[in-house]
Amino acid sequence: MSPKPAVISVIGSLNVDLVTRTPRVPVAGETLTSESFSTGYGGKGANQAVACARLSRTQSQAANGSPSDVEVRIVGAVGEDEFYAGLLKSLQGDGVGTEGVKVLKGKKTGVAVIVVETGSGENRIMFCPGANYEVEVGDLVDGDAGVVLFQLELPLEVVLHNMRVAREKGAETIINPAPAIPLPDEAYHGLGHLIVNETEAAILSGIEKPTSWDEVASVFIKRGVKNVIITLGGEGVYYQTSSQHAQSKPGKTVPAKKVKVVDTTAAGDTFVGAYSVAVARWRTTSPDSEFDLDAAIRHANLAASLTVQKAGAQSSIPWVDEVPSS
Ligand code: ATP
Repeated sequence: MSPKPAVISVIGSLNVDLVTRTPRVPVAGETLTSESFSTGYGGKGANQAVACARLSRTQSQAANGSPSDVEVRIVGAVGEDEFYAGLLKSLQGDGVGTEGVKVLKGKKTGVAVIVVETGSGENRIMFCPGANYEVEVGDLVDGDAGVVLFQLELPLEVVLHNMRVAREKGAETIINPAPAIPLPDEAYHGLGHLIVNETEAAILSGIEKPTSWDEVASVFIKRGVKNVIITLGGEGVYYQTSSQHAQSKPGKTVPAKKVKVVDTTAAGDTFVGAYSVAVARWRTTSPDSEFDLDAAIRHANLAASLTVQKAGAQSSIPWVDEVPSS
């Protein structure tokens, strides 16, 4: 009998992106013919679930439907509209279990209407959360989820309640608090892994101009976080642990791989996915040994460096066999 897979449950958002590309944005009252229109699937929850699935199985494993040692599930809500079936099918194609997604009658799937100005490359995004904001407070954490991954694109009370439930069930908790809003202390207490970018680090720590990342990490660790990871875009990743901090040791920085950047969209989601897979494998195979944080971060950093070399969101998230070993 093969061993039980590690289960990652992503409690988060699912959206459809409607993207038009235009030389410039229209002024009030103007109709402008755009260059192209495309649809894509997104939402931080869905993107990170896809990243977990792709970064825990090879392309041939996915194509053959062979089982992986990591099972990924998403929990959230979509509306019973013209978008949801394609969205769920696409997630299933990547190996993400969607049984935990509620299809809400009379509601709309979350939609992001994105206008890309081709001249400047700038985006203008209107986000309509739809069913994502209809997820009700309740116990959404699967009994056998070893790792529960959160973002902040669902109602905050849903996130906070389920962080509590996950902790009570003994699951390892990871949060990528985007879009960032200041969180109550209870969100940090007993939190396994906090993954933030520089902007989120400033908003959540309340330190706008830090003198060092150690100063910022120290705020989170004092609030109760075990592992603090700050992604620094093209500068790489900083990390600190509560045990290093207790010994007054500084955090470490892993530099980003030097690559030709095409589009950084979903780089953070790829990083979070690769990292979460490492946590899930450790939890399942060797929970009594120390988590190899450095190895997890180096691998996630390499995976994210592939994402920035491709355009698009979910389409730019690599499979594990595309990630170099170092
Ligand atoms: P996004 O919102 O664009 O998905 P983010 O703001 O959440 O990303 P970043 O800190 O910008 O997160 O990037 C996450 C990780 O992606 C970085 O820590 C790094 O590993 C990788 N990365 C981002 N930008 C670059 C780059 N220019 N070159 C190489 N790697 C990069």
